[in-house]
Amino acid sequence: MKILVAVKRVADANVKVGVKSDQSGVDLANVKMSVNPFDEIAVEAAVRLKEAGVATEVIAVSCGVGEARDTLRTALAMGADRAILVESDAELQPLAVAKLLEAVADREAPQLIVLGKQAIDDDSNQTGQMLAALAGLPQATFASSISIADGHATVSREIDGGAETLSLKLPAVITADLRLNEPRYVTLPNLMKAKKKPLDTIRPEELGVDVTPRLQTLKVSEPSRRAAGVKLPDVQALIGKLKTEARVL
Ligand code: AMP
Repeated sequence: MKILVAVKRVADANVKVGVKSDQSGVDLANVKMSVNPFDEIAVEAAVRLKEAGVATEVIAVSCGVGEARDTLRTALAMGADRAILVESDAELQPLAVAKLLEAVADREAPQLIVLGKQAIDDDSNQTGQMLAALAGLPQATFASSISIADGHATVSREIDGGAETLSLKLPAVITADLRLNEPRYVTLPNLMKAKKKPLDTIRPEELGVDVTPRLQTLKVSEPSRRAAGVKLPDVQALIGKLKTEARVL
């Protein structure tokens, strides 16, 4: 069973990014880039299925600029067998990425496609759902556990006030939530070994996909600053404020 895993190159979660002076977007100049954290979880899930003998091959796919090869090398160092970069300098919105992933899936015929539940840069939470719809595949989003047997995936997912368990006929699309697993650290020897693993590059035109953006960003602005807090002398003063100002008592 082949597994396709989508990995996006995003600004590192520990970096505080700023807005460009013309408010056209987030300033990524000289910003450390990493694998989208939910995609590390997706790769870990796929690699564990391979280690358990359920999957035979894990293929990591990224869509974006040439530097996304580093992102793919991380996935290879975590245990993916090979990687595909769909290289484009265009702004790739979720619908375009979903179409590209569908085209790659058409070529590779995986039984399972695993994505992160959302990319931490655009917070869209759309790509997995759009891919499943385009490809006509069953989907389980926000997976917190996955098991595979008899041509089906059983997926637990957290929902408001509880958990839900779904059974999906393969091939299927699953998006990974935070609780699915704790991704392994990438070691230097594995990173070196990853350099020898195959990493192919294709362009959207070769896949017959038009990636023209459908959404236009009008403006990006910083969140408004929080007002400074105050120090109160004692509990009585706090209770007074809660009664007269916050009016919660
Ligand atoms: P989003 O819908 O943008 O929040 O992204 C959801 C998931 O889709 C991510 O966690 C990735 O697994 C996948 N994805 C989104 N954009 C890309 C991309 N450019 N390349 C590869 N995977 C992507």
